[in-house]
Amino acid sequence: MKAIAVTPGAGVPEVVERPVPDPTPGEALVRICRVGVDGTDYEVIDGTHGGVPDGDDRLILGHEAVGIVADANGTALEEGQYVVPTVRRPQPGVETNAYFERGEPDMAPDGEYVERGIVGAHGFMAEYVTSPADCLVPIPADLAPMGFLVEPISITEKAIQHARATRSAFDWQPASALVLGTGSLGLLTAAMLTETLEYDRVYCLGRKDQPHPTIDIVDRLGATYIDSRETPVSEIPAAYEPMDLVYEATGYAKHAFEAIEALAPNGVAALLGVPEDWAFEVDGGHLHRELVLSNKALVGSVNSNRGHFEAAIDTLSALPDWVLTEVVSGVYDLAALERAFPEVTAPVAATGGSTVSPDDDTTIKTAVEFEDI
Ligand code: NDP
Ligand code: ZN
Repeated sequence: MKAIAVTPGAGVPEVVERPVPDPTPGEALVRICRVGVDGTDYEVIDGTHGGVPDGDDRLILGHEAVGIVADANGTALEEGQYVVPTVRRPQPGVETNAYFERGEPDMAPDGEYVERGIVGAHGFMAEYVTSPADCLVPIPADLAPMGFLVEPISITEKAIQHARATRSAFDWQPASALVLGTGSLGLLTAAMLTETLEYDRVYCLGRKDQPHPTIDIVDRLGATYIDSRETPVSEIPAAYEPMDLVYEATGYAKHAFEAIEALAPNGVAALLGVPEDWAFEVDGGHLHRELVLSNKALVGSVNSNRGHFEAAIDTLSALPDWVLTEVVSGVYDLAALERAFPEVTAPVAATGGSTVSPDDDTTIKTAVEFEDI
């Protein structure tokens, strides 16, 4: 079977041949239909995040998948059913641990898990994959074409749940939200805030020149676009309003601290970005005082569990179709692999080494298609 693998740091995803995997007891065999590409995949390709499984020099990419059960292998799944796989698994050779037993692998510390397609385990960009059946979340057939968005939406389901939990000790009634970043995670989150979470006022921070498809989406959602080159995050309260919720999806490390200043009293900021090391100066006294005297909270959030995937499937069905079709710029088969990875600058070895056209900067999110839905 064909799979898409990368040597992290080499910067080039390529099509490789691998044997079709055999499901072990408790696992099902899944025929993969589509797999989304996101910022994390580029970090893995660049070698700044994640890593190969022990004993391997290449990693099969892909953590945002939707597929069809090809062999239920005696599990409760049904053959022909569409499923979305979760991402975290126990370390190889370890059957489970307390986090997995509680159904909370997303809360496991580093070293207690691997992530398929990201760190220590092969991903889902392959014609077939195997997975424990309890890590395969059924999805209705009519949602399957966009089923690869369930994983990124689940990331926000978790982050918002954790942000709300920090405010659960009092009567918190948030009305304003600021999303930092207009990548696919930021835009999907902005859509959730306006369409399903019903925030009155939503703002999105980006750094694109008008006109731009991301700004069109922000406008159409009824949200307000803020250009970070004109209005830094710390000046947003004065220029617009202080925010009850800030959702950081830029990976720009200064935003973690500037978010404290953007918050309204009693507000919470959820941090999602995964920056590299970067030392810079902040007024720690000011930020510490702000957090304390204004009852503000900062919460980091990573990954998601099965419950978040189930919530994400409900969200996917509630989001307007136009949001999904505008966020997904293109779905490409293996013959057009380089178009699925527009931010890869080296030649992508798709069908014998075609050369990537430079990112035209209008691509928001892509997916690789193994089988038409
Ligand atoms: P993208 O790279 O697609 O999006 C990031 C966006 O932030 C880009 O649009 C970028 O703009 C923008 N940005 C960066 N710096 C600034 C700035 N100073 N001012 C304004 N905009 C800025 O990534 P994703 O949407 O896929 O993910 C967002 C972040 O979340 C990433 O850091 C990713 O690693 C992380 N992530 C975390 C997860 C978790 O579980 N915690 C899960 C998935 C992703 P431009 O295009 O101009 O560079
Ligand atoms: Zn992702």
